[in-house]
Amino acid sequence: MKKELGLYIHIPFCERKCAYCDFLSGPAKQEEKERYVEALLEEIRSYDGKMDEYEVSTIFIGGGTPSSLEQEAIVSIMEAVYQTFPIVNRDKMGRRIKDESKDVEITIECNPGTLTKEKAEAYLSCGINRLSMGLQSTVNEELKMLGRIHTYEEFLHNYELVREAGFVNVNLDLMSALPGQTLKTWEETLDKVLALKPEHISAYSLIIEEGTPFDAMYGEDGPKKDLIPDEETDRAMYELTKEKLEAAGYYRYEISNYARKGYECQHNIGYWKRTEYLGLGLGASSLVKKQRFHNTNDQEAYRKNCRNQELLREEVTTLTKNDEMEEFMFLGLRLCNGVEKEEFKKAFGCPVEEVYGTVIPKLVEENLIFETPERIFLTPYGLDVSNAVFSEFLLE
Ligand code: SF4
Repeated sequence: MKKELGLYIHIPFCERKCAYCDFLSGPAKQEEKERYVEALLEEIRSYDGKMDEYEVSTIFIGGGTPSSLEQEAIVSIMEAVYQTFPIVNRDKMGRRIKDESKDVEITIECNPGTLTKEKAEAYLSCGINRLSMGLQSTVNEELKMLGRIHTYEEFLHNYELVREAGFVNVNLDLMSALPGQTLKTWEETLDKVLALKPEHISAYSLIIEEGTPFDAMYGEDGPKKDLIPDEETDRAMYELTKEKLEAAGYYRYEISNYARKGYECQHNIGYWKRTEYLGLGLGASSLVKKQRFHNTNDQEAYRKNCRNQELLREEVTTLTKNDEMEEFMFLGLRLCNGVEKEEFKKAFGCPVEEVYGTVIPKLVEENLIFETPERIFLTPYGLDVSNAVFSEFLLE
């Protein structure tokens, strides 16, 4: 039986850099984009015949802004992927093998202002079946402050054309705790988004990343740090998100992710369940055969070594059994249905209680986790302070 594999494909281009963003992304000329896609195609093809023990069950084209590329580039990336990797329910041309069977989930990240109907149709025609849009807020002043290139009205236009093209699985990304945001404006964003009925909503709190323009402005020493909502407001936003989304029929399956039943993001669930994944493209991270590594972040080195996987890889770490057990716990506990004790035993050959015999009762006592004979979950309080709980699962 083949092992499951997720593929992540990184497109490091955006129309403009948002003020809060520290992702590996930025604007580029058409020529640079074309050279990058050529190198990416080479890297994809370099895996031909090397991953046949796997079957790809999810693909995520992320960034950056993949929709900032011409649609032909995305189509050729998908063609190369189909020709190179064995993929669940797809043939070498990307056609579905059986209509009724479980299909591979293929997501593309898009940002409003970079999408056209032709692009959306081209994505569908090359087998992409899920589209994730970075909206962040429906309040135009907030979008402007974030440095986004689009208004809410432009997003709406893009959302409509995505639906018209035929996408039936759409995620919208939102962001709370923004400078100057109030509970009222956050509620306005939630209400407008719910009226659009996306299948999936990701709602993260803003994290001010070091070295970004946001850090200089709103970070600890920034002149406008007081505009960041206080802890109490942040908490109220978080509660409001849960309340409104659950009342509207979404269920929370991970700390920051909500979906209608059957529309959970399988690719991200793979990360939390430690399914192996291969990252393709600049800086892309992988977990393959008990090793974590990432591709070089240097564009030139990437282009030069795109056919040589060994030269592309950096920070290759071989995980010890302890590393794997820690990851199993703190990644798995992000999921609202927690970790399965039997899966731990299957993976590591011993009961979870044997490894975490003192930690589990202590966290249960502190009302941070909840235990059944089959599973361990975070309690609602544990979900709120999840990072502190995860650190308890670190082994010597
Ligand atoms: S669109 Fe996304 S990846 Fe691009 S700069 Fe903005 S936040 Fe970063």
